[in-house]
Amino acid sequence: MDISNRNTINIKDRNVTIIGLARSGVAAAKLAHELGANVFISDRGEPKEELIQLNKLGIQGEISGHSEKVYEADLWVISPGVPKESEIILKAQSKKIPVVGEIEFASWFTHAPLLAITGSNGKTTTAHMLYEMCKTDDIHPILSGNVGNAFSEVVLNDLSQPDEKRVHILEISSFQMEFINHFRPYISLFLNLTQDHLNRYKDMDDYVSAKMNMWSNQTEDDFLVFNADDALLTNRIGPAKAMTIPFSLGSDIDGLLFRLNATKIFDDQEHATLINLDKIALPGRHNLSNYLGSSTSASLLGIASSRIAQVMSTFCGVPHRLEHVGEINSVTYINDSKATNVDAVKVALDSIENPVLLILGGRDKGGDFRSLTPHTHNKVKEALTIGESEKAIASVLEDAVRLTSCGSLKNAVEVAHSHAQPGDVVLLSPGCASFDQFANFEERGDTFRELVQGLKVHG
Ligand code: ADP
Repeated sequence: MDISNRNTINIKDRNVTIIGLARSGVAAAKLAHELGANVFISDRGEPKEELIQLNKLGIQGEISGHSEKVYEADLWVISPGVPKESEIILKAQSKKIPVVGEIEFASWFTHAPLLAITGSNGKTTTAHMLYEMCKTDDIHPILSGNVGNAFSEVVLNDLSQPDEKRVHILEISSFQMEFINHFRPYISLFLNLTQDHLNRYKDMDDYVSAKMNMWSNQTEDDFLVFNADDALLTNRIGPAKAMTIPFSLGSDIDGLLFRLNATKIFDDQEHATLINLDKIALPGRHNLSNYLGSSTSASLLGIASSRIAQVMSTFCGVPHRLEHVGEINSVTYINDSKATNVDAVKVALDSIENPVLLILGGRDKGGDFRSLTPHTHNKVKEALTIGESEKAIASVLEDAVRLTSCGSLKNAVEVAHSHAQPGDVVLLSPGCASFDQFANFEERGDTFRELVQGLKVHG
């Protein structure tokens, strides 16, 4: 099937194979089915329930492995969980079957402007900030991609109930940008680049290259909003065709729409105060950076400064990101379970002024724990380690921080409770993935919250 011209793509009566029966695969299958394709969905795992639901709609599929039927296709749509070098993808490509990602696929079927956010950290927080800023009489934003519903699902819903004021706010992970042909955001917002997912990519360059695909189809009519404080990122945007608009916590950069000084953020064009820093609800300089990125993007969409300032003063963040979950005996407990890489741990520590008992560990993603030491110095009283990476953490941090091996999160919370003094903060900011002990980071954070609530009950 020829997909070289986005405007003429028609999947009616075409055989479309969907690889992966999770959230985005299921949504893509429903969208393709609605558009008249003959859909076949295949997964090597056991998600039976999803397949039964799809069968009821008349969509065929298989689980527990991929049969030869997957190659009887005009088009493949793959879920972000499928690595780009996997054998089945290489085989489909060798048979000249076009392979696209779910985000690319869904983007063919909407004309609404796309605002796509990527980066190593802060995507979900910033996507929610932007969503709140854009929610006005003139714009009807909807969140999708890596946050909320799959993009295919919201595109499908809009087909039956079109909304002329729709703007799609998409949280994009590097995996979702691996198979891109026409995907073209009106605004792409690039937050930062740090080591992450090095267990899936060959090296940092491979990871960065996947993320760069986000703006590869943008033209002079589009905007690329980028964090000028991130040298790695700034060095990579040279070839972008879109209008590049920086945001920065520093003051000596040209072209900023909003500028920060010691007490406020102000509108650089109007020379008017946007907001005093003491009015901003979310703590941490990293969140100021997220705000500057979201405000710049919202402003390019025509959102009034008053609305932007209002959101800054009221938005309280997203669960599992520096979420305050309790106070017991004047000790504050903070859930930052979403800190799945070392960089997120650094910003968490930098945003807290009090002494910290840090719960760290889980499934190692190749992060450099040694680089934590400038941030733990004079702040982390004790690091309580959990999970598979305990030994790796101990081997690099044992000279820098007092370490206690706790094994489980439950044990770590109990140890923290018995060691903490009034005024201390107990911070779960693991710097690792959760999959060694939990289904996902949400389950890890929810468990932490429940354990803290259990402490409250027992005193
Ligand atoms: P993502 O969706 O990119 O994973 P989240 O908003 O879920 O980002 O935040 C993930 C983790 O990164 C949290 O621990 C959060 O406190 C931290 N974080 C948020 N914004 C930033 C930022 N701009 N730089 C570094 N870390 C950040």
